[in-house]
Amino acid sequence: MASDQQRWAARWIFPVSSPPLENATLIVSDGIIEDLYASKDARAVDLGPVALIPGLVNAHTHLEFSDREEPLAAPGCDFFDWISEVVVYRRRRSVAGPEALFQTLQRGLRECAKAGGALVADIVTSEYDPGRFDTPHPRLVLFRELYTLRSEQVGTQLETARRFVHRPVPSEQPPVVFGLSPHAPYTVHPDLFEGLVELARRHQVPLAMHLAETQAELELLRCGTGPCVEMLRRFGLWKGDLFARGTTVRDYLNRLADLDHALVVHGNYLNDDDVAFLAEHPHVSVIYCPRTHEYFGHPPHRWKEMLERGVSVAIGTDSRASNPDLSVWNELKFLRQRHPDVSPRVLLELGTLGGARALGLDDQLGSLQRGKRAELAVVELDSNAGSDPYKQLFGPASRIGPGPTSKG
Ligand SMILES: [Zn+2]
Repeated sequence: MASDQQRWAARWIFPVSSPPLENATLIVSDGIIEDLYASKDARAVDLGPVALIPGLVNAHTHLEFSDREEPLAAPGCDFFDWISEVVVYRRRRSVAGPEALFQTLQRGLRECAKAGGALVADIVTSEYDPGRFDTPHPRLVLFRELYTLRSEQVGTQLETARRFVHRPVPSEQPPVVFGLSPHAPYTVHPDLFEGLVELARRHQVPLAMHLAETQAELELLRCGTGPCVEMLRRFGLWKGDLFARGTTVRDYLNRLADLDHALVVHGNYLNDDDVAFLAEHPHVSVIYCPRTHEYFGHPPHRWKEMLERGVSVAIGTDSRASNPDLSVWNELKFLRQRHPDVSPRVLLELGTLGGARALGLDDQLGSLQRGKRAELAVVELDSNAGSDPYKQLFGPASRIGPGPTSKG
């Protein structure tokens, strides 16, 4: 017998990569799944009328806003007014100092863990030591955010990015993944974007970019006009000659497709050609943030059509600056309610394996399979939602419960 073996039994186990197992057992050795099968092992700790699912994957968040009790502005607010609020908020916070920021990040990470999170992709705006977080915590992919429209600052930003991807990985297990994030087309000088893509390609690190987020962004790229220009003028950043007329989101996608793993964050306004291109490039994923999408009042997101056409889609919560919490489970329940036509099997995969694939960690996480890491979430089932296990899983009363170790 292995030195550290655990056996869990549950009413249902949802491996995601295969159909659910009833009255099932999961055997874990040294944190790795050794076996799972549909019968209750008498030696297992019986977790009762719950489901074991793979730990959830939050493919996009900004933990730096985790101390917000509510979003920065009222739902349906203008995106650029919201951005101004973000700038003010960050200025105020920088006065509070790095330790206050670290405590905010820690708070956010604890919230993700409590919500059944196994993997969190965070956008990082200043350097800190992830080795200081309480352990165990969800695995982290840290995307260093870079932005400037000033050509004289491109070199410094690239140097910051270079240092970030060369950081020593903290000695804790499992290791943190370091990636890069050019913020968005309207805040990133084209030379900075090119430099970051090249850096990510050379070092084989993932890259995430807010892209096709607003109509205004498309207008800026196409014509060099519109609300983005007004906002950049307001901050004294506008450079009239910077945006080549006739640039499109597709120009960005073409470059992202050169990478091993790239994340198109939001993709609210991807057009038919973009979707067709992404379907041919499944290593470039669209990260849909359902409740944030609704908060800004965008027209319907094309995630269902994208999935049907073979585009890789994953789920993010975005931050507490635009969302009430950091629970991927709540995002999935929100989708279940709004889109009863979508199979719950698809929803579960979006919040687990879809995210792990987007971040290039599906060889270790995202499904319950022999040899993968035993990162689990426990769902207290809704027994009134019918006999179908998926209906019980996503029934109105189902919720994420305490992790198995806190029961064992
Ligand atoms: Zn974001």
